[in-house]
Amino acid sequence: MIDNECIIKEGNETLRKVAIKVNVPISKEDLNAGKQMLKYLRMSQDEEKAKKYKLRPGVGLAAPQINISKRFFAVLIDDGENVLEFVVYNPEIIAESVQMVYLGGNGEGCLSVPNKYGRVLRHKKIKIRGSWYDPITKEITEETKTFSGYPSIVIQHEYDHLNGILFTDKITNNFGDAEEIS
Ligand code: ZN
Repeated sequence: MIDNECIIKEGNETLRKVAIKVNVPISKEDLNAGKQMLKYLRMSQDEEKAKKYKLRPGVGLAAPQINISKRFFAVLIDDGENVLEFVVYNPEIIAESVQMVYLGGNGEGCLSVPNKYGRVLRHKKIKIRGSWYDPITKEITEETKTFSGYPSIVIQHEYDHLNGILFTDKITNNFGDAEEIS
């Protein structure tokens, strides 16, 4: 089981590496790591379990954050109505909107950067290609998907982890005509 101890923190050099592509078809090992990452996110969003296992709540987790320098990440966004839940392997952002957005409030945070928050400019809309694992159907499909708003922000944050970039590198106070997303 992945817990907070397994999540490496800022200062660990793996977080600064450009991660390598995974082999396709996805190996059992990489698939299992992805499932474990989703499990962490699911448990971390369950108040009781988060308290019991001392899990910091998260909506995204990238493989480099558990010291696996490979190109995949997990996302779980549950807004009470819709659930967006997947692991994507070898993702490639192939198009980005000109319109920018940023997360309001304290801005973004990161499981690998305790106690720091900040506002970061992200593209409002992205098109991303990859191998997607769906935990409901248990299938992996090659697809290009489009995301906008909050999911787009989360995905760009996780994607940066695959290239050794942390959100703290991008914190800004200059938002231009970017839209605030809550
Ligand atoms: Zn992060």
